[in-house]
Amino acid sequence: MSAQIHEHPLIVTPSLCREFCSCGGEHPAPGATLYSGADAATVLAADYRALHGTRELLLLSDPLTHAVAGAQVLEALRGQGVAVAHLLLDDEPSATEELAEQVRAAARGKQLIVAVGAGTVNDLGKYAADRNGMRYWAVPTAPSMNGFTSSIAAVKVKGIKLTVPAAPPQRLYADPAVVCQAPLKLRQAGFCDVLAKVVSDVDWRCDSLLFAGGYCRLPSTLMAGVEKTYSEHPEEIGRGEPDAVMGLFHGLLVSGVAMSLAGSSAPASGGEHLVSHFWDMREPLTGRIPELHGLQVGAGILLSTACYARLAELDGRSLAGRAEAAYAATAARIPAIWGGYADEVAKQFLGKREQLLRFDELLPRHWAELVTHFRQVRSAEYFLDLFRRTGLDFSLTTLKLSADEFLLAARNGRAIRSRITVLDLADHAGVLEDAAEATLALLS
Ligand SMILES: [Zn+2]
Ligand SMILES: [Zn+2]
Repeated sequence: MSAQIHEHPLIVTPSLCREFCSCGGEHPAPGATLYSGADAATVLAADYRALHGTRELLLLSDPLTHAVAGAQVLEALRGQGVAVAHLLLDDEPSATEELAEQVRAAARGKQLIVAVGAGTVNDLGKYAADRNGMRYWAVPTAPSMNGFTSSIAAVKVKGIKLTVPAAPPQRLYADPAVVCQAPLKLRQAGFCDVLAKVVSDVDWRCDSLLFAGGYCRLPSTLMAGVEKTYSEHPEEIGRGEPDAVMGLFHGLLVSGVAMSLAGSSAPASGGEHLVSHFWDMREPLTGRIPELHGLQVGAGILLSTACYARLAELDGRSLAGRAEAAYAATAARIPAIWGGYADEVAKQFLGKREQLLRFDELLPRHWAELVTHFRQVRSAEYFLDLFRRTGLDFSLTTLKLSADEFLLAARNGRAIRSRITVLDLADHAGVLEDAAEATLALLS
């Protein structure tokens, strides 16, 4: 067998990247390939055998993902005579630094890591492979988030969930029947996460406009090319219809690639992701187990879009002379909200102080152009309707969030990262509070 037949289609091709790039800068090569088919396990095993012989690999799964796909992959690999070390994680594992270190230790001396699962298993495999300098393949089992192909992993360090850089997998293998039968809640979460790119792209664009950043149309043009396959079919995604769920799955893969193409300096996520990170980081303080990433991001989308709607109505000439007070008010709340973690949060917020202080001069100057971008964003009601049409409610109750915790994140989420987002614009303009209250009403 020649190695040639073991190559699968790239999720995003270099020629599309050249065609859609508007910045003229260097983007990383989009290397990840996807094989999608009912025989994904046997194809993976045959590919491994052709590329790496029978040398030992590490297979990573949890009891649920093992039952739906991992056992098949293990059997296929053994059928090819491949030596497999299998690390079966506990039920509902959490991607802690300690567990990631166990995975790293188990992977040492192996040819590569194959991770079978979605959010957590993928984060653990990607992180361990990246830190070990190893190759990494993924077998996604649910269309629940865009992290399969992104260049970050979410790992809990000393109790706080952080997003850290980690190289994406070289190869993905998916059985459509497995992906389509993933629980509805996971499909709804993925639907929210893929729609986030629509708002985070405007955040990135406004940031670039204000601070001469390197905005490129490549990510948004890639997403526009696939968007219809999922955004117009929430009911079908809810019912598990293969075309719609695989459209969502493909959209998530493209979204992850688009994120990694944007490069390390550009934002991987906007204000809608900050509130989700806020709730993740608050776990040691509140005891609230974070909800699925995509669902929390969905609440963030509603808040961001509510901010954009209010900003679009303002006259930018009135926005001078506010920056110092807006910064000081948010900074003053950090110690009470974050306790022992306050220093780290304060450092992040201080990282954008200079930029925030320039809002007094930059917002009035660029307002006319900013407003054209604000007006592109659809309403919070539009997104909430889409989320609910998947067949599951979308509310504070389903997010297991109190009204207080929601408002705390809406008002203060902007402080946890040094990146400029719509939450900073809205706070400076004095509309964040109203947007937060309106979003709370939508979710109540
Ligand atoms: Zn570009
Ligand atoms: Zn996300």
